[in-house]
Amino acid sequence: MAKHTGLEGFLVFGAPDIQQPEIDEVTDTMASGWLGTGPKVARFERDFAAYKGLSADHVAAVNSCTAALHVSMIAAGIGPGDEVITTPMTFCATVNAIIHAGATPVLADVDPLTMNIDPDAVATSITPRTRAILPVHFAGRPCDMDALMALSDRHGLKVIEDAAHAIETEYHGRKAGTFGDFGCFSFYVTKNVATGEGGMVTARDEADIHRIKTLALHGMTKDAWHRFGDKGFRHYQVVEAGFKYNMMDLQAAIGIHQLQRVERGWQRRREIWNRYQNAFAGLPVTRPADPEPNTRHGFHLYTLLVDEARCGVSRDHFLEAMTARRIGVGVHYLSIAEHPYYREHFGWRSCDYPAAERIGCQTVSLPLSPKLTDSDVEQVIDAVQSTLEKRG
Ligand SMILES: *Cc1c(COP(=O)(O)O)cnc(C)c1O
Repeated sequence: MAKHTGLEGFLVFGAPDIQQPEIDEVTDTMASGWLGTGPKVARFERDFAAYKGLSADHVAAVNSCTAALHVSMIAAGIGPGDEVITTPMTFCATVNAIIHAGATPVLADVDPLTMNIDPDAVATSITPRTRAILPVHFAGRPCDMDALMALSDRHGLKVIEDAAHAIETEYHGRKAGTFGDFGCFSFYVTKNVATGEGGMVTARDEADIHRIKTLALHGMTKDAWHRFGDKGFRHYQVVEAGFKYNMMDLQAAIGIHQLQRVERGWQRRREIWNRYQNAFAGLPVTRPADPEPNTRHGFHLYTLLVDEARCGVSRDHFLEAMTARRIGVGVHYLSIAEHPYYREHFGWRSCDYPAAERIGCQTVSLPLSPKLTDSDVEQVIDAVQSTLEKRG
């Protein structure tokens, strides 16, 4: 087993693949004395834009995907009285960002096969108050963007893509995060490119990026790098009540080198994903659907559905059994409609989103870090097989 952690012999779920270039760049940043938003953030933005085939004035680095979603919503002009349609099969940050913008989240159920928001369910959720669709490319699988963009055109809705799982994802030859008005990316520790905490916004409209850069730094007109640089002192003006959402050079230092290896990481995860697909073909579990033609799956998560009636083991027992075998597993996700806060405030019932409810009760995510060695992968496979075969 690879030496991942201080947790002796435990295969940590979503372990980041940190290598020497990141460590050297962080040391260099420390030695330079410039820790905050500066030249390394600017470089990371240029590199990320280039990876997405965009020019640098269409991206803005921030300190999380949650922040990216929040400022995108504000830049889209979304606020109180507006409804934003999103998926119940997501991390709570997606929904919280809608709430923090003052708008009302509306859930549209997922397609049971792709686990992505179902365009037909979106269509039936549109009301005169709907202002935006917020699709999530779940596990790195692209949403049906043709159908969603057609709905957006027909009803004049903004589209904000939650691309937290989808840095490498493509749909019909086009990169995730470049379909809608905004794309939001995460560099959280478990994500495909990790900076510890971090995020990026991509926007179709340069003026939106300009606004977002202002919003992400207190609503000030010039960032500190310009203010305190060697180009002469500059006064700043506060033009709106902004937030403290800027990325630091310390974070960008990690991201620059993570991004250089993004394709290598993707290839390794694809290899592991395919290894799992083959290994579990004979088990009484539901494996992920194969990627759709003419798309590129981001392979962020590998999820199995454990149906107690078929497996003879409950999902929660399966989670326990894997952990007992020293393998870190995850649940992505319990349906958003299961959580007490949203139930109380929006009156949601999980039975109104039956596909998400069922997935949420059955889903298990297996380790998929590019750090996994072949023997780590075999160990995961053995643990899954023996847990299910003993019972199934
Ligand atoms: C991780 C994640 C987020 C939040 O990202 P942060 O960078 O941690 O704020 C949002 N949406 C989805 C789908 C995620 O997986």
